[in-house]
Amino acid sequence: MGIQLVEEPSSFKELLLPLPRIDFSLDKPVRAHLRINKSDEVVLIRGRIQAELILQCSRCLEDYRFPLDSDCEVTLFPFEGVTPPQEAELDKDDLRSSYYYEGEIDLSAIIREQVLLDVPYKPLCHASCKGLCPICGADLNRGSCSCKKEVVDERFAPLKGLKIGRGGKGN
Ligand SMILES: [Zn+2]
Ligand SMILES: [Zn+2]
Repeated sequence: MGIQLVEEPSSFKELLLPLPRIDFSLDKPVRAHLRINKSDEVVLIRGRIQAELILQCSRCLEDYRFPLDSDCEVTLFPFEGVTPPQEAELDKDDLRSSYYYEGEIDLSAIIREQVLLDVPYKPLCHASCKGLCPICGADLNRGSCSCKKEVVDERFAPLKGLKIGRGGKGN
């Protein structure tokens, strides 16, 4: 069975609300092309998820576009217990597996997890982003500011905070 899903930005964002670590917005729907295969009770979902996120650069704080295009492969096992399990901790390097409950597969949850796996922890607009001046806050990507930057020789850095008393206490 092959299906296509389109998650509208507004409803998708709502799904992400319980996850405060991620701060981003979507200006296009999230698109997923998934193939679902079932053999016995095990369900294999394979496909591709595409979205365009607006992330905030962690250095210069500017918003930028982050195109997300990821292949996903998830194996789902039926859950036989009484209450659904907590969402499994997912690791990108592991073969991903999860559960379905009472014969229902929550595809939105699978798409959501895949998107979250691909959102960078430290978003950067460019690998070479210069960030903001720590003194005046100017965006250094747009040009340098006139602040005088103290150049500290790392070898002497531990001495920087050292106070040398004038006159001294002992006198
Ligand atoms: Zn930046
Ligand atoms: Zn400055």
